[in-house]
Amino acid sequence: MLYNLKMTPPVSSSPSVTSLSGVRGAVQRTPTYPFTPVDAPIKLDQNESPLDFPEELRALALARLARQPLNRYPDLHADTLRAQIAAFEGWDPEGVVVTPGSNVLIKVLTEMAGLDQRVLSVRPNFSLYGLEASLLGAGLTEVPLNPDFSLPVAGLVRELGAGGPGLLFVTQPHAPTGHLDAEADVRTVLDAAGDGWIAVLDEAYHQFAGRDGRKAVRARPNRVSLRTFSKAWGLAGLRLGYALAAPELAQNLQKLVSPFNVSALVTAVAGVALEHPQYMVERAAQTVQERERVLAALANHPVYTAVASKANFFLLRTPDADAAYAYLLSRGILVRRQDKLPGLSGCLRVSIGTPAENGAVLSALLEIRS
Ligand SMILES: *Cc1c(COP(=O)(O)O)cnc(C)c1O
Repeated sequence: MLYNLKMTPPVSSSPSVTSLSGVRGAVQRTPTYPFTPVDAPIKLDQNESPLDFPEELRALALARLARQPLNRYPDLHADTLRAQIAAFEGWDPEGVVVTPGSNVLIKVLTEMAGLDQRVLSVRPNFSLYGLEASLLGAGLTEVPLNPDFSLPVAGLVRELGAGGPGLLFVTQPHAPTGHLDAEADVRTVLDAAGDGWIAVLDEAYHQFAGRDGRKAVRARPNRVSLRTFSKAWGLAGLRLGYALAAPELAQNLQKLVSPFNVSALVTAVAGVALEHPQYMVERAAQTVQERERVLAALANHPVYTAVASKANFFLLRTPDADAAYAYLLSRGILVRRQDKLPGLSGCLRVSIGTPAENGAVLSALLEIRS
């Protein structure tokens, strides 16, 4: 069976357009975000939660939405939501910035500290850091990860010392490898980011890692933690992310966020989620348990190598990513190809799904013998 593309891929993003010379060259040269939606019964390609927002919370959210005045602007800077997030995280509300997805924070951070300066990260990594740097014409340096996907500590420390000012992105757990670094290594890198740098810890997957970086971020006024409702909270469709930082840094970041950028609808739904965080905690624990079950079952696979992960996904190294992707899709399982990324030849990224979905993945993979 074949699952069809929902959309035709965007027309070539080649820079041959000459009639739009008003568009900055950096924008024209930047490729479009590399994602093509595909339909399949088992969707494990975007690291989403396999479970939707719980029914009883959905009912509470709908009741709240029904009473929501829609003729009025929401809070200018989502103050109610910021206060709720601050209480949940044990953070100063003045140090919280919310946006429609943490992707927007990656953009405004790049505007704040990367534009006309530098952006430093690792390779491979989450593609948006490089994409935003490219759009804004920021000087981008990506230090290759070590072969075991750990942070290239010495290389990053060297780049940080060679000079800012600029923006550092460290992802923990890392995407798309799922690697979680030794706390001491993360600390060494953050410590090397002196006053000229803004150091960002992207913690989109921290709930699956059993560790987070709030303490490290609190220790210095130039550090930021990025968090999202898209993964553990199961609310990718809502579009909500936030930054935790010191108030002075948050206030500067806030200047770059458009006013009223989080709608009253999003605020109402997120409010219900934050009043009932237990569902998220339980689901994250279930995902971790499933991840370990899947990785253990694949440990001695004769052909594929499943890479240990502390996130809600893992890399699967195959001899032929094309063939492995098509085979899984023929079994109704959609995963994400990562084989074109540096150091990830043959790799697919598989999200952890429900126990039944993971069972289907294991049956399909364990049938492969050569
Ligand atoms: C999924 C993800 C995010 C979250 O993006 P949203 O815009 O909040 O959906 C951020 N960083 C990384 C590394 C991710 O994988």
